[in-house]
Amino acid sequence: MTPSTDLNIPLFERAKALIPGGVNSPVRAFKAVGGTPRFVKRAQGAYFWDANDQRFIDYIGSWGPMILGHGHPAVLEAVQKAALEGFSFGAPTEREVELAEEILSLVPSMEMIRLVSSGTEAGMSAIRLARGATGRSKFIKFEGCYHGHADSLLVKAGSGLATFGNATSAGVPPEVVQHTLVLEYNNVAQLEEAFALHGKELACVMIEPIAGNMNFVRASVPFMKRCRELCTEYGALLVLDEVMTGFRVALGSAQSVYAKSIPGFKPDITVLGKVIGGGMPLAAFGGPRAIMEHLAPLGGVYQAGTLSGNPVATACGLTTLREIKKPGFFDGLSASTRSLVDGLAQAAKEEGVPFSADCEGGMFGFFLLPELPQNYPAVLKTDSTRFNQLFHGLLDRGVYIAPALYEAGFVSGAHTADDIATTVAAAREVFKTLSK
Ligand code: PMP
Repeated sequence: MTPSTDLNIPLFERAKALIPGGVNSPVRAFKAVGGTPRFVKRAQGAYFWDANDQRFIDYIGSWGPMILGHGHPAVLEAVQKAALEGFSFGAPTEREVELAEEILSLVPSMEMIRLVSSGTEAGMSAIRLARGATGRSKFIKFEGCYHGHADSLLVKAGSGLATFGNATSAGVPPEVVQHTLVLEYNNVAQLEEAFALHGKELACVMIEPIAGNMNFVRASVPFMKRCRELCTEYGALLVLDEVMTGFRVALGSAQSVYAKSIPGFKPDITVLGKVIGGGMPLAAFGGPRAIMEHLAPLGGVYQAGTLSGNPVATACGLTTLREIKKPGFFDGLSASTRSLVDGLAQAAKEEGVPFSADCEGGMFGFFLLPELPQNYPAVLKTDSTRFNQLFHGLLDRGVYIAPALYEAGFVSGAHTADDIATTVAAAREVFKTLSK
């Protein structure tokens, strides 16, 4: 493909004239990796096709939701049927109840749930609920975790533990982030110190259990255990942001993975998105009845949405969940993801490229680093030039991974052993060319 025949280029020019950066969400612009984003025409199974009709094996899956692959027949049928019945009513439907029942049966830490339209809304509302339920203002988040773009969550660490965060975005007044405390992920000593200083004023601790917004970094079991213990001890709520991990790393979500190592482990509030909508705008937050009853119209914490519980989105999400809970689905997905990660690690080893990788269920991450990082400063040690070479090398070979080294990857039920083998072979070729 030469620049004169690449149809993505004129599309990007048209888009840039009309939409800031040519995209409706920043990472799509390829700013970190350079080059022209691929404009997607259509997708099916594990693949999408760009403006040139070039096929890519898709390891993003809309950043997580497409766990069944694109255009799964059962999901398509449910969405088409729902669309014929009406797009949106602004009134309750039976399908919302069915989706609530399905989610709560799979993630029993939640007794009640509220549906919204995006992970941002869900995370923002969870913080408001935690504040309303506890009557406290401050909360803890961790460096490298992303919980959507609500003002109080766009924060980086301040200069010390006694000080609160600094906004990471223009347009966020300092007063809005003055209650957000940003700590290092997986740092137990810092967490304990923060609780000793502020524990009685904390509404909640919000955490991605497996952080997918700094590639793929697991909260260590001792760290997660301490988060739970300290929240309980000080009366703060533990908010698990499972927007990415929910129904993606296991049928019971990441909380079920931690419950294997921490007996009785459960969060107070769970935040969900992505997979529960199966690719349609749908997210949720939920928890025990006593907490959720603080929400309007029962309680004083206001939260609402014109399109919340949208009938087409709930049909898509409900059918997606019913498919992934079929016996064997997660075992197959986990095995495919594991074979990808092991194949890449083996190829890197044979080509002498420092490499580490991890996965859980259908979510994975890899680093051009000899050891898996435990926090954001360690992730930043990745050589971005080499990552960009890898990204473009794979793209040229028809393999689409996230266009930034801070993002996790996703395998779907539609990825075949052949797709994985093709990917590993492509990566091996690129590893040979990586500057040593
Ligand atoms: N939380 C996490 C863990 C996420 O990964 C994301 C999105 N990548 C969000 C919240 C925000 O979700 P949305 O983009 O749907 O607003």
